Amino acid sequence: MISSPGGSSSVFGIFGHPVRHSLSPLMHNAALQACGIDSIYVPFDVHPGHLAEAIAGVRALGIRGINLTIPHKTGVIPYLDELDESAAAAGAVNTVKNEDGRLTGYNTDGDGLLRSLAEEFTFSAGNSAIVVIGAGGAAGGAIAAMCRAGARQITIVNRSRDKSAQLASVMTKRYPDTDLSTVGYGEQLAPFLHKADLLVNTTSLGMNGENIEGVDLEALDPAAIVYDMVYAPPVTPLLQEARRLAIRHANGLGMLAAQGELAFHIWTGILPPPGLMKRVLSGISAQ
Ligand code: NAP
Repeated sequence: MISSPGGSSSVFGIFGHPVRHSLSPLMHNAALQACGIDSIYVPFDVHPGHLAEAIAGVRALGIRGINLTIPHKTGVIPYLDELDESAAAAGAVNTVKNEDGRLTGYNTDGDGLLRSLAEEFTFSAGNSAIVVIGAGGAAGGAIAAMCRAGARQITIVNRSRDKSAQLASVMTKRYPDTDLSTVGYGEQLAPFLHKADLLVNTTSLGMNGENIEGVDLEALDPAAIVYDMVYAPPVTPLLQEARRLAIRHANGLGMLAAQGELAFHIWTGILPPPGLMKRVLSGISAQ
């Protein structure tokens, strides 16, 4: 085990603005320690106007890998040398690997969601029908991963119908084997909920106790799963309703841990000890 950084230590980090709320340093440093890797993971508050210089700094300083959080997930793309399919399809990058100054962007959010669903419910997206609430960056990553995993049908529900239509069109071109459609909130959603194996909230609704109006969980099949990417508070109104109806459900803490595990694997070639990152996060969120 490495006790503290020394002269030969390498650096990983996260760029965000603000970044002080980020839980990534805690879980990554715990994983680096547990795996005996001589590195530290540092939060960097990078103003959007300084992103180009910050990325030049990654090359100049030999930082081995970074995560990107709000507001840098799309803004970073022009400064990278290459995009993995996960990032190209999502149009967003949350992980960058630095190989001798050559920077490759990845998106582990979508696969992190699928990994969390597999761990918590042994759910696999293959041949499934899924309703996705929201059409922003998190939805893009999730939908791309679901399509790659062989989802049969994905229905996107969003306040701004132009954004959901645009997202469905982009994904259909990339993944023609999945049937993608869009629908508004309210009554027209009920038949899609009835057929769905999984409902995922990718919006920020619920962070401040908001209900998601126009999504009636009573229309869901009782065997379906409700997944909320929001993890603070741990039980959103959407999850309270799922609990009331005895529908299986989970918040986004498992996804947060899983996207971190996948980023760690991209950088180091190994996965952290099973459950370690989630245990670190659960300890924090319980405080
Ligand atoms: P984003 O690109 O800004 O997209 C936000 C989405 O939420 C859009 O679809 C937007 O609809 C919708 N929305 C926002 N306010 C709304 C309202 N009042 N009524 C209806 N719809 C509303 O954000 P993002 O990057 O996708 O992130 C979304 C959430 O996912 C955040 O809470 C983030 O923390 C969470 N997330 C969690 C994880 C995890 O690991 N658990 C990972 C990534 C993201 P319009 O298009 O109509 O504006």
